[in-house]
This record gives sequence, structure tokens and C-alpha cells, in this order.
Amino acid sequence: MNVKPTIDRGSSRSLGIAERGRNSLRAAFSHVETWVFDLDNTLYSPECDLWPKIDRRITLFMMHLFGLDGISARALQKYYYRHYGTTLRGLMEDHGVSAAEFLAFVHDIDRSSLTPDLALAEAIAALPGRKLVLTNGSRDHALRTAEALGLAFDDIFDIEAAEHLPKPGLKTYERFFERHAVDPKSAAMFEDLDRNLVIPHDRGMTTVLVVPKPGQPDHREPFEIPSDEIMPHVDYVTSDLAGFLTEIIAAKESLAS
Ligand SMILES: [Mg+2]
Repeated sequence: MNVKPTIDRGSSRSLGIAERGRNSLRAAFSHVETWVFDLDNTLYSPECDLWPKIDRRITLFMMHLFGLDGISARALQKYYYRHYGTTLRGLMEDHGVSAAEFLAFVHDIDRSSLTPDLALAEAIAALPGRKLVLTNGSRDHALRTAEALGLAFDDIFDIEAAEHLPKPGLKTYERFFERHAVDPKSAAMFEDLDRNLVIPHDRGMTTVLVVPKPGQPDHREPFEIPSDEIMPHVDYVTSDLAGFLTEIIAAKESLAS
């Protein structure tokens, strides 16, 4: 996926891109005052098994709820995920499931595979302005995950704050902008699912799609992987979030000096 500017450290081939990219980064991020991050599969490496653990807990929840075998529960889970945006939304709409009960169960996972990400923590801390998390998960999950990664944010907008309407729904972003007084035209958003960047881009946010490195597992569902590499709602693509943010900071600092 090289149709968008990419900034990846550690590759000799990418050095030229990084140098050329600095000018465009300066222009693209100089106005940004609010930095908005998705949580799952954006702030931690896809090699970490966190998301598959949550995914399996969702299947288990549905097995208990409906008395289904694993294969049937999983098929229903993926149907709800695709048609409602989250499995939770489908369970709430069709079966009146308690969101609190569901979220507590599915996020009750072993996070020992998460280790502090010093490079990402330093990069996020050095960004000028507010740093917010916008997640379809729970606040508790975001807090625990950020703590395990050693990351600090000013606030978290979770699925409860979104009144259980997940991204990419328009209402969710409107609630988020209002709750945190975010002007999308002076904000940037980092996400692993491109569909969640459509409305942010439409509202004027600068958008960055975070993708796995070559050879890393890709936890997106098959329907979530874009077949068309030309995505007008994605301004940048990176497989190295810490490296990308470090380049932004360098570009802003060179602008200030
Ligand atoms: Mg995500």
C-alpha cells in the first residue's frame, strides 16, 4: 500500500521518502491542536495477541448467551459485527443485552503480552496539544491497555460516551467533537480501519491509516481490507506509528525554529 505518503524508519528505501515527506508533513500537521487515536490494533502491535483474545471472549459470551456451539456463535458474531458495526450493537438491538455486562466480560483478558512502548509514549507525550482516545471499546479497557503500554492521554471517549453507537456512525463523531470541544479542522486522527476515517476526513481532520508491517498478522476482517488502494479519505499510511509521530514532531520543530 504505497499510494499514500508513508514514513517508516529502519528501511534504507524509506529514507528518501522520509526526507521528501517532511515538507508535506510540515504543511499537513502544522495546524493540528488535537490528536485523536483509535485504541485496538492502532496503539499496539498486531503481533500482540490482544485483539484475538477479545474476539474469542465475544464468541464465548455468545455461546453462553444463546447456548450455541463455537462455530455457530462465531458466525452470528461476525454477522452482527458486519451489520451493526459492533457485535454489542447487534446484541443490544436484537436481544436487549446489557452493554456493561458484555463489555466487562469481553475485556476481561490477560494483558501480559503488552509491554511498555517507550518510543510511542515519548512521541505521544511530545505532540503539542491535546491527546484523546476515540474507541469502540470501553473506558476501562482503554485505561488498562494504555497503562500497560505506558501511554498517557488527556481523555478517552468510549462506546458508553457514544451511547453505544460505534464508529463509523456520524452521530458518534458529532458526540465526540461536542463532548471534547474538538474542531475537526485542527485535529488529526489515527486508525487501523479506513472506514472509520471517512467522516473524520469529510469534517476536515487530517487522517492517518495505521497498517501492519509486511509479514505481521492482519486482524481486520476480510471485508475490512480495502480492495482499492486509492482511498481519498486517507491522507497518510504508516506501519510505524511511533516513527510517524516522531517525524511530525521533527517537522513541527523545524517549522518553529
Ligand atoms: Mg482499531
